[in-house]
Amino acid sequence: MKDVFDDVITRLREIRSVMDIKDTEIDLLVSPKRIEKKNLLVDGEKIESWRVLYNDALGPGKGGIRFHPKVSEAEVKSLAFWMTLKNSLLSLPFGGAKGGIKFNPKTRTKRELENISRIYIREHYLNLGQDKDIPAPDVYTNPQIMGWMLDEYEKLVGHHEPGMITGKPIEIGGCQLRGDATAKGGFIIFNEVIQHDGLGKKPTIAIQGFGNAGMNIAKMLYNAGFKIIAVSDSKGGLLDGSGLDINKVIEIKSEKSSVTDGNGKIITNNELLELKVDILILAALEDQVTVKNADKIQAKYIIELANGPVNPAADKILVSKKITVVPDILANAGGVVVSYFEWSQNRTGGILEEEYLARKLQTMMENAWHGVYELYKDRGNIDLRSSAYILAISRVLRAEKQRGNL
Ligand code: NAD
Repeated sequence: MKDVFDDVITRLREIRSVMDIKDTEIDLLVSPKRIEKKNLLVDGEKIESWRVLYNDALGPGKGGIRFHPKVSEAEVKSLAFWMTLKNSLLSLPFGGAKGGIKFNPKTRTKRELENISRIYIREHYLNLGQDKDIPAPDVYTNPQIMGWMLDEYEKLVGHHEPGMITGKPIEIGGCQLRGDATAKGGFIIFNEVIQHDGLGKKPTIAIQGFGNAGMNIAKMLYNAGFKIIAVSDSKGGLLDGSGLDINKVIEIKSEKSSVTDGNGKIITNNELLELKVDILILAALEDQVTVKNADKIQAKYIIELANGPVNPAADKILVSKKITVVPDILANAGGVVVSYFEWSQNRTGGILEEEYLARKLQTMMENAWHGVYELYKDRGNIDLRSSAYILAISRVLRAEKQRGNL
């Protein structure tokens, strides 16, 4: 059966039609450097877990850890591959990595979550470290989990090393800006998109996923006066054609656990994806727009705040419908950029001002956008994703050559 990593390989092979790239280079790019799979023994239960270091030509591995019942090796490998390209595109001194634990965190107590987080570190810590591979939060993981993981790691190695993980609580080395950094980066890209393509002042927006990425960008867009007509989470979506009151939706979500408890019409996640809006922001999971529904998408723009929400076959249909997709490795890079700030501060012991870091995030996201957009305009025959892939892959391959690996 086809899995999400097959899609990664398909995209890499397809890039040959628009990029001068040798077979040996493709072979290197389709091969993760290290896949570590460990079964975590948790009170007699066996839980599968992974850490994948995909490529480290540009620096130590960097990428989040996901807790989800559907985590698989193919998914972690794909996420680690996308991290490799994202870190490269943003000119960060990091390779790409990712981790995952296959279980449902929603059915566990806080103590169980702490126990599982600590056992994960005990099993994987030899391959982690500020100069080896640096985790961060992803779906259903948060600063508290990063805090437990750091604590377990430091106990095992016998010294303080806050730079071994990012997205930590502030008191133990976290960075003020990290909490909503992915959304901040996405918001910067959103503003570039509407400026460059003249969508008008008030595009209508729908957002799938209402967690760290989705909820925070909803808040930023709402506060900036944009009209969000629908949002969703794993339980379904909420629609109000005249615009949702996002502050109310956030309140309801925190009180009752789902956006579907708010005021508005309840819709399914599939219905949300197919709404007639100007901009659809995907901030949940991969494989949401596929051949099954790509033809029914009515948005003019899709911004991928999630990793891999549009698959390669769907991309082709969207291009033929003249729907512009702003790719994940650009749109959601704000999180890892601020993780980089956190990691550098941890290493030097310096404390940089939030305002300075916010400006730096702005510049780095804008530079990445301009690089991708200019190549896309120059070439004229490629989509934004291909443009971003060409830039990101070229930097990784240059580093591999400079190391004598190619
Ligand atoms: P999160 O755990 O904070 O939130 C996930 C959200 O998605 C929740 O609202 C959940 O209810 C919703 N969801 C889950 N399954 C769904 C489904 N089938 N349909 C609709 N909604 C569903 O996770 P997050 O950190 O916001 O991550 C979301 C996406 O953004 C992921 O693809 C992640 O890899 C990506 N991302 C996150 C970060 C980060 O810093 N957190 C950085 C880059 C990319």
